[in-house]
Amino acid sequence: MYQAFLIKYGEIGVKGKNRHIFEDTLVSQTANALKSVDGAFTVRKENGRIYAEAQAEFDFAETVEALTCVFGIVGICPVVLVEDEGFEKLAETVISYVQKAFPRHDVTFKVVTRRARKNYPMESMEVSAALGERLLEAFPQLKVDVHNPQITLHVEIRNKINLYSQVIPGPGGMPVGTAGRAMLLLSGGIDSPVAGYMIAKRGVKIDAVYFHAPPYTSERAKQKVVDLAKEIAKYAGPIRLHVVNFTEIQLYIYDKCPHDQLTIIMRRYMMKLAEHFAAEDEDLGLITGESIGQVASQTMQSMAVTNEVCTMPVYRPLIGFDKQDIVDIAQKIGTYETSILPFEDCCTIFVAKHPVTKPNLKSILKSETHLKERIEALFQEAVDTAQTIRVEA
Ligand code: ATP
Ligand code: MG
Repeated sequence: MYQAFLIKYGEIGVKGKNRHIFEDTLVSQTANALKSVDGAFTVRKENGRIYAEAQAEFDFAETVEALTCVFGIVGICPVVLVEDEGFEKLAETVISYVQKAFPRHDVTFKVVTRRARKNYPMESMEVSAALGERLLEAFPQLKVDVHNPQITLHVEIRNKINLYSQVIPGPGGMPVGTAGRAMLLLSGGIDSPVAGYMIAKRGVKIDAVYFHAPPYTSERAKQKVVDLAKEIAKYAGPIRLHVVNFTEIQLYIYDKCPHDQLTIIMRRYMMKLAEHFAAEDEDLGLITGESIGQVASQTMQSMAVTNEVCTMPVYRPLIGFDKQDIVDIAQKIGTYETSILPFEDCCTIFVAKHPVTKPNLKSILKSETHLKERIEALFQEAVDTAQTIRVEA
């Protein structure tokens, strides 16, 4: 029954020149999201609004699902487009719309009319009142409530007449591409996919890096990370995923450094490598899924020591979240089921029984001097052998 969607977006903080960038990006992100849907749409900006108009039959559920993944959208209104063939025809269409759109008729409603086309023969208030009357006749259970109605029926008189009442919530946030780009350290766990989602939601384009340790980590563990990137790409758009072989560096650290410092030193090299790829991709920061106190490597002391190698800002959107809060988001965005698949991660393979939880930077730096012979060559080799995959939803 619907022929178009009116797309509502938040305007707070989007002013001046940025507003155009925001709107144009939202138009192109919406068009991209609808490409994978069964149907054909044109997406356009009109009078400070965005419309996605169907050019042919389309799958309603699939279309709404695609639109709920576009950051920047706060509401999705399915719209019925009516040719203007006089008030009588309009009233009939409105009655049949209410019949189909609302299973229950013992509700309160009001009609809000906007006359964008001024040559329409009736005034807005007249149209609202006349349509209200016709609806009450057709559905005696309906009641008018102009202050707090359960249903607000919008009638907008444009070239065609637009009817809508339903607002399906969108994800909010900012359109991806309006806020620069950043490099996500993506593991197979629960946290980092959520961290990537949250930063992308603020309009940031995401690249990703995954460290694996073949043959200690399997091809299936890698596939799991590719699958997670695919799930994030549903919201964030195509992701450039760098898969970095970390085995030699890990073995070398294991060989040369105290085992209780392994994780910290390893994480420092992960950050350094991530920063290398981030610079290549022109990213403005790194993103991790860390949250204070979750594991030994995420104490304030550990993160300070890890952070010390970075020159780029490191964004940790989950820093103050409890695990359950993170799990809830993972479930909502659809990454949880993949994240809990039981494949090994390189971090857990060489982990010490009792890792330091309050590392001391001086002592870490001293241990790292034991790596000076080969670490630069190994670092370069990890860079040279990295594989880059373009991951699409
Ligand atoms: P996650 O659930 O994201 O795996 P975690 O709770 O397991 O996080 P850690 O293993 O300490 O925590 O990792 C902290 C962060 O470091 C991760 O959120 C991720 O951003 C990054 N990270 C960890 N392992 C890898 C990896 N193999 N490849 C890329 N990034 C990683
Ligand atoms: Mg992990």
